[in-house]
Amino acid sequence: MDARKYPEMEEEILRYWEENSIFQKSLEKRKGGKKFVFLEGPPTANGLPHPGHVLTRTMKDVVLRYKSMQGYYVERKAGWDTHGLPVEIEVEKMLGLSNKQDVEKYGIEKFNEECKKSVFRYEKAWKDMTRRVGFWIDMENPYITLDNTYIESVWWSLKEAWKKGLLYRGHRVTPYCPRCGTTLSSHEVAQGYKEVEDPSIFVKFKVKGKDEYFLAWTTTPWTLISNVALAVNPEEWYVKIKYNGEIFILAEQRAAVLLKNEEYEEIDRFYGKELEGMEYEPLYRFTEPDKKCWFVILADFVTMDDGTGIVHIAPAFGEEDYEAGKKYDLPVVQLVDMEGKFKPEVKPWAGKFVKDADREIIEDLRKRNVLVSEHRHKHQYPFCWRCDSPLLYYAVESWFVGMSKLRKELVANNEKINWYPEYIKHGRFGEFIKEARDWALSRKRFWGTPLPIWVCQDCGKEICIGSVEELKEMAEEMPEHLDLHRPYVDRIVLKCPECGGKMKRMEEVIDAWYDSGSAPFAQWHYPFENEEKFKENFPADFICEAIDQTRGWFYSLLAVSTVVFNEAPYRNVLTLGLILDEKGQKMSKKMRNYVEPTEIFEKYGSDALRWYLITASPPWQPKRFYEKAVKDTLSKFLLTLWNVFSFYSTYSSLDDFDYSRDAVSVERRTLLDRWILSRLNSVVMEVKEKMDGFEVHKAGRLLEDFIVEDLSNWYVRNSRKRFWSEERDEAKMAGYSTLYEVLTTIAKLIAPFTPFIAERIYLDMEGGESVHLCDYPTPDKTMIDKGLEERMEMVRKIVEEARALRAKAGIKLRYPLQEVMILAPQNLQEMEGIIREEINVKEVRFVSDIHHFMEKKARPNYSKLGPKYREMARKVAEAIEKEKALEPGMKVEVDGKTYEIEEDDIILEEVPKEGYEVGEVDGIKIALNIVQTPELIKEGFAREIIRRIQEMRKEMDLEMEEKIEVEMDANEEMLEGWLEYVKNETRSREIRFVAEPKGEHVKKWKIDEKEITIGIRRA
Ligand SMILES: [Zn+2]
Ligand SMILES: [Zn+2]
Repeated sequence: MDARKYPEMEEEILRYWEENSIFQKSLEKRKGGKKFVFLEGPPTANGLPHPGHVLTRTMKDVVLRYKSMQGYYVERKAGWDTHGLPVEIEVEKMLGLSNKQDVEKYGIEKFNEECKKSVFRYEKAWKDMTRRVGFWIDMENPYITLDNTYIESVWWSLKEAWKKGLLYRGHRVTPYCPRCGTTLSSHEVAQGYKEVEDPSIFVKFKVKGKDEYFLAWTTTPWTLISNVALAVNPEEWYVKIKYNGEIFILAEQRAAVLLKNEEYEEIDRFYGKELEGMEYEPLYRFTEPDKKCWFVILADFVTMDDGTGIVHIAPAFGEEDYEAGKKYDLPVVQLVDMEGKFKPEVKPWAGKFVKDADREIIEDLRKRNVLVSEHRHKHQYPFCWRCDSPLLYYAVESWFVGMSKLRKELVANNEKINWYPEYIKHGRFGEFIKEARDWALSRKRFWGTPLPIWVCQDCGKEICIGSVEELKEMAEEMPEHLDLHRPYVDRIVLKCPECGGKMKRMEEVIDAWYDSGSAPFAQWHYPFENEEKFKENFPADFICEAIDQTRGWFYSLLAVSTVVFNEAPYRNVLTLGLILDEKGQKMSKKMRNYVEPTEIFEKYGSDALRWYLITASPPWQPKRFYEKAVKDTLSKFLLTLWNVFSFYSTYSSLDDFDYSRDAVSVERRTLLDRWILSRLNSVVMEVKEKMDGFEVHKAGRLLEDFIVEDLSNWYVRNSRKRFWSEERDEAKMAGYSTLYEVLTTIAKLIAPFTPFIAERIYLDMEGGESVHLCDYPTPDKTMIDKGLEERMEMVRKIVEEARALRAKAGIKLRYPLQEVMILAPQNLQEMEGIIREEINVKEVRFVSDIHHFMEKKARPNYSKLGPKYREMARKVAEAIEKEKALEPGMKVEVDGKTYEIEEDDIILEEVPKEGYEVGEVDGIKIALNIVQTPELIKEGFAREIIRRIQEMRKEMDLEMEEKIEVEMDANEEMLEGWLEYVKNETRSREIRFVAEPKGEHVKKWKIDEKEITIGIRRA
């Protein structure tokens, strides 16, 4: 098959699958069998799929097809993730809205309608990609997180958390995106750290009533506006120093570091705890706090690592500050609005985004002479992973899931999971869950699962609603068409069970990660429906996503299931490495550094892409993805397999071979046949082993080695000749039987990996129905002969070495040589024919000791002969060298005198016999006779001519049987004795030796430095 035809072949197979409902049949066939439960991580279809998605879909498909062929019932329900900030941001951009107020003005109802539309904008592109990559999954009945049924299940789980006291409202400092107007969870924040440069300033706070100053340090000058206290470490030493004519208080260690090149005088020394309660004058006083503030407090979190050992405290903007504030009953001064801008009270900077005000605040401090010094400071700062705004730490009211109370349970449930690769379990993931923080669940946004909590407007009672039924029971009035989204759900007013007052829903929606984390039960609308279904499918046997889901979906799944069921929701998780470009750069839409998957499908097809992704590296390692890699995979692997198949089908149909009628029993097969069958069964065994451990890359590489090296480069090459005979003899039938068995087994073996070519080969060979309805091959251990495999391996090494020896001697493989001698640890007699053919020698001699190809050669012993009788010695040596066989006692003539050689006049050495090249590999010694006799040269020349004529026949598109006449300008003697052989091999009626060859096709060739013209015409 032409490489260009490959994608077309795949399209045909796709149509075959669809027209014959092969996926459905594969499911039906396994129904009732043991289940292998897969849970699909839902993508969002508001963006186009990229190569990373092709990778996840490929890996899932390989595993699931494999399990299905192994007899498991593998249901595959697709899913769509549809809620959340990413969707809202896209829609805001599209509508030209820049913040929450804009959205509210635009109208939540209209806005959410747009969100709903946008989440399926690229559904078709996703479906097309999924189809084209060959991922079998039920896209017709997916779970969708925006469905009422899905939301209801999520509500049920939240109510479970509520009942366990794990869903609570807290006033806590949380990472907050001022642009998106909402808090983020800690696992979201973990995705968005960047290195930035911020101001780093030292400011002084005047001690009340004294001419002394506390020296403090901050990298967020804008928080100084809301300062209410200074914190020191009670157990550390502090000093009072005189520096530049002023008196400062700071930590002793820090003074030593900060002022190490400066002069200062220490006036006093004391523990930090002695400073507790000392009051100071505030830098800013834009509001009058309702509680006592502006004094020194004690806190263990103050370190001696940086700053001055005195930390400025603004409880509204730091988690530790907030906790310390609670302890000292400090006021929470919050002078920043929810968009991250200063409130009107902060007159000079009102309405300004806080980080943008830093510069002016520093200038103000400088003017007032409270700025001691200013630097720039590089550090890691979190940004919103979706909109890229710098996050602020805000004390805001938010709803939390108490994950920190469940750390032990999370750890215990993680123990039930097999991670691939294993090191993530106790590493990246294990470390994360050990320190699990409470999950900041609520989002003050619009498009998401509404938080099902209603509050009484009269008595303040809060209730959590866990089902639509419950809602109906308590509602004053229910809408005709129930849509659980905002703003419709906001309009449902409940009657307070305590006081009969009106209850309204809290306006928050929840983190979309909680939605996808609820997939194990919400996809079945459990517990309202499908109880059996849920039980059969929980926990999942297998999930598989990119490694960046470790703290994303892999975590949210475990978290939700731990809260609701105290159970691990999956047993095996395969994590996939990132996809990089050719140079190892991360792929990004901005850089456009990748080829669109659709382009790859069109040019090379999906098998090539799949095979490349599978074998390039272990699944969890990063992969470089580029066009040439896929192209090479197609030609090196897939077309090699295709060529073997088409070799088989061409010859076997010429001979009208029918396996069921003509198969030859295994005992009557050739050695080579038995060897390839042994290899096949060994490979089946190894592939299964690797696949069961999710080492798909190793399974793939085993198959590639087997198909390319063993089957194509060794078995077929060495078997070819028997198929060329005219007779339908047994050797030939044995070869067909073997190739038939190997190829049909290969089709099944590779079916999970490259489902298209597997199907094409299988259907062409077996007819009937799809290869994907077959059982995965099991090894026939009686066919495995390890000894034979070892010996063949030895033979391949011998051949490789002998060819290297040929190259060393400059003799091409087409020129036969007389003999090779082999000294091997095992009896390789049965392989003699293969070795002879592969090395192209007339004779293979197995020898039992080294002397067969080494000889003792004597040379003059110059050290004995010189220097005493120098001139004489030289002449003796010369005479000795002339002699062929040197022996003590023989006589040489020197200057007319006879000299008798003594024993120590010569040195005996072991050297290869003359005319031999000698080599060694793995303890096997090889001697190749490299003497080219005129007869051998003629034979080689005949082969060179044959090859050229064959090539020209191909260029003329001749049928195999078609006869030709040949003219050439070679010397007739060059082919003496080989003319008939050449005629036979090339199907020539006649070969004429002429000065100017003519024909339909005339071509000039260069053979061993000689120019030879050959002309061919049809006869
Ligand atoms: Zn944001
Ligand atoms: Zn009430």
